[in-house]
Amino acid sequence: MVIASNLGFPRIGPRRELKKALEQHWSGRVGEEELQSVGREVRQGNWRLQKQLALDHVPSNDFSFYDHVLDMAALVGAVPRRYAWSGDAVDLATYFAMARGARPKAATGGQTPRGLDVPAMEMTKWFDTNYHYIVPEFERGQEFRLAGTKPLDEFLEANSLGIHTRPVLLGPVSFLLLGKSRNSAGGSPLSLLDGLLPVYEELLQRLERAGADWIQLDEPCLSLDLGPQALRAFPSAYSRLAAAAPRLRLLIATYFEGLRENFSAVLRLPIAALHLDLVRAPEQLDEALAGAPATLSLSLGVVDGRNVWRTDLERALAVVERAVKAVGEERVLVAPSCSLLHSPVDLQFETHPDEELRGWLAFAKQKVEEVVLIARVIREGHKAVNEALEANRDAMERRRISPRIHNKTVKKRAAAVTKEMLRRGSPYAARRRLQEERLGLPAFPTTTIGSFPQTSEVRAARAELRSGKRDLASYEGFLREELERTIRFQEEVGLDVLVHGELERNDMVEYFAEQLTGFAFTQHGWVQSYGSRYVKPPVIYGDVSRPAPMTVGWSRYAQSLTKKPVKGMLTGPVTILQWSFVRDDQPRSETCHQIALAIRDEVADLEAAGIKVIQIDEPAIREGLPLRHDDWNAYLSWAVDAFRLASAGVRDETQIHTHMCYSEFNDIIEAIGALDADVTSIWFARSQMELLDALRRYRYPNDIGPGVYDIHSPRVPSREEMEELLRKALEVLSPEQLWVNPDCGLKTRRWEEVRPALAAMVEAASSLRTGYRAP
Ligand code: GLN
Ligand code: ZN
Repeated sequence: MVIASNLGFPRIGPRRELKKALEQHWSGRVGEEELQSVGREVRQGNWRLQKQLALDHVPSNDFSFYDHVLDMAALVGAVPRRYAWSGDAVDLATYFAMARGARPKAATGGQTPRGLDVPAMEMTKWFDTNYHYIVPEFERGQEFRLAGTKPLDEFLEANSLGIHTRPVLLGPVSFLLLGKSRNSAGGSPLSLLDGLLPVYEELLQRLERAGADWIQLDEPCLSLDLGPQALRAFPSAYSRLAAAAPRLRLLIATYFEGLRENFSAVLRLPIAALHLDLVRAPEQLDEALAGAPATLSLSLGVVDGRNVWRTDLERALAVVERAVKAVGEERVLVAPSCSLLHSPVDLQFETHPDEELRGWLAFAKQKVEEVVLIARVIREGHKAVNEALEANRDAMERRRISPRIHNKTVKKRAAAVTKEMLRRGSPYAARRRLQEERLGLPAFPTTTIGSFPQTSEVRAARAELRSGKRDLASYEGFLREELERTIRFQEEVGLDVLVHGELERNDMVEYFAEQLTGFAFTQHGWVQSYGSRYVKPPVIYGDVSRPAPMTVGWSRYAQSLTKKPVKGMLTGPVTILQWSFVRDDQPRSETCHQIALAIRDEVADLEAAGIKVIQIDEPAIREGLPLRHDDWNAYLSWAVDAFRLASAGVRDETQIHTHMCYSEFNDIIEAIGALDADVTSIWFARSQMELLDALRRYRYPNDIGPGVYDIHSPRVPSREEMEELLRKALEVLSPEQLWVNPDCGLKTRRWEEVRPALAAMVEAASSLRTGYRAP
C-alpha cells in the first residue's frame, strides 16, 4: 500500500512558542525545565497533529532547539575544544554556547557554562534556502562518539503517546561534507568517515532495538556537484549502516535539486527507499522508474515544501499514478518535496480578510493533508475523495484566471523590453567623466550603505503608528526631524555622498512590497531563518506593478536639506524576489523582470526629482545561485538583466550604485561587473582575501567600495586599520576607482558606535588623499 509520509515538520510552534521560550531562557528568565517543557509541547503537538491527519510516516527528531545540523554535531560528540566540554552527554548550555557563543556573566545574567568566553561556531546558508545551519567543526585528530540520545528519546517519547514515528537523521556523508576541518592538514572532512560510522551504527542499532522500523537519513548533498571521492563515500557508508541494523529500513532523502550524475551510484545503495524532490526536478522520475532495483521504494516529493501554494492535486496525482503503474503501489511513498521546515505552520491561523488568496495557499499542516489525500486516491480511487479533488480543481482554476493575478498592461510591457533598455546611454568611461563634473567629489569618496541606527525611539514611533496611538502626521514629523539630524551628522563628520537613513523602513523588502501590486502579507507566515530568528516573507501572487512613487518624497526632502548629494535608496529586483515567496505559475525570471520594471519607474522618478545618485541594493544576488554549477549562467544572465533593466534607464550623469553583502562574491565577480553599476559597495572587512583574489584575477571595470568597517561587530574600528584595508585594496584597484564605505547598513548599530567609526573612516580617506594627486 502506498505510504503517506512527511520529511519534517516546522519546529517553531504554531504560535512561535519556541522563540519566546528560547529567548527567555537565554536572558535567564526561564529555566531549562520550562524550556524543555515548551519543546515537548511543540514536538508532541506536531506528532499528534500529523497522526490525526492520518499520515503514515510521522517524522521524529525533526525537532530542534536551534538547528538540526548542530544537533547532529552534538550527538556525535563533535564539540570543538574551546567549549571545554567534559565528555559526557552534551548539555544544553554547551549546545547553546556552540550555537551563540558565550560570555562570562552576560549582561543579562544568562546561563553561561563554566564561565566560558567563546565565540559561536560558524553559521551558513542551508543550500539555497533562507535557513542557516551551524557549520560542524572538525579538529585535528577528531574523534566521534555517541554523546547523546536525542533521536532515541524522541522516538520513545512519541511511542509513549501511541505514535510510531520515523526518526530523521542527517546522513553521515552530508554531515561531514557540510562541516569544515580546522587546525588539520586541511584534508577533506570525508577522511573522517571511518571514525564517524561506528557512532551511526550504534545509534541505528539502538533505534532498531527500541522498535523503529524506518529511518530517514537526509543526504541533501546528493543534489550538489560531488567529486568522485564524495560519491565513493556513499556505497561504503551505506553498506556498513545497512549491515549494522539489518531490520531497519533505511530511506535516503534528497532534496532541492535532482540527482543527475549522482543517480546511478545512489540507485545501487543497499537501502529500502530513496526520496526525490519532484517539485524542483520532476524530470528525474523517469530515470528513477527505469533504473530502480526491485528492492528500492521511491518516495515521491510532489508537494512543494519550500513554497506556500496549494498543490495542483491532479498534476501531483498524475506523477504518483505513473510511478505506481511502473513499480507497484507497494514501492511508493508520497511526500512533500523536502522537510516542511521551510513552510509556515498553519494556514488556519490566517484571519486575513482575503478569502480568495487564502484559497490558493497551503502551509505545513495543509501540505500534510495534501500528501494524505494523494495517498488516499491511490488506495481508494478518485471517487472516495471526489469532493476534495473537485474543490482543489476549482481553486486551481480560479487562481489561473483571476484578474487579480493577471495584469495585461504589465505583461505587455514586460514582453516589450528591448536590449537597449538594458544598456546605459554611454560606456562607463564617458559616464564617469559626466558624473565627476556634476558631483565634484574628491578622490576616495566616502559614503555609507544607507541605513542609520534604528533606535528604540524610531521603533517605538513605528509601533505607535501601527497601533493607532500616533497619527501619520506626527509620525512623519518625528521622522523628518530624525532625518535632518542624520543629514547634519553626515555633513559634520565630512562624508561626501550622504544618505537619508532609511528610518521609515521596517525592512528592506517589505517596505517596497507593501507599495507594489501583486504582493500579499500573511499574519503568521513565519519560517525559521536560524535559531530563534524567524522571517515572514511577503507572498508574490500576481503581476507586479508600481501604482505610485515609493521613495521619492523622503529622498526629495532629504536632498532639500543639503548641498551634498543624497543617494536615493532602493532594493533591487533580485533581492525582492529572493526574500519573498514567489508565485509558481510562471518562471522566477519573469516575475523578477516585472519587479525590475517597477523599480525602473522609481529610478526614473527619483532622477526627475533631482536625485543625482541612486543606489539599488542587491545583497541577495549570490544566494539565488543554483546549486549546480551547470545552471549558474542561466540564472546570472536573467538576474544581471533584471538589475540592468531596473537601473539603465537613467541619463549618463546620474550615478547608479549597488551594494552586495552577506557572502563572498569572488566566484561571481564577473557578473557583478556585468551589472555595470557606476559604483559597487561590497563586503570586504570579513573576507578580504577572497575579494582581493577575485580582483587580482578580474580587472574590475567600474568604481568599487570594499567595505572597510565591519558593521556586524560593535567594535569601533580605528583609522589605521581601515587605512590599512584601503591600502590592501589599492594593490588590486586603481586609486581612481576606490570608494570608502562601511560593509553594510548601520541600522543594527548604536549611534555611540557609528559616530566615532564614521569619523575614523573619513579620516582614513583623507589620509589616503594626502600625497595622492588625481591623474
Ligand atoms: N541599504 C540597506 C541598508 O543600509 C542595505 C541593507 C543590506 O544590504 N542588507 O540597510
Ligand atoms: Zn549589506
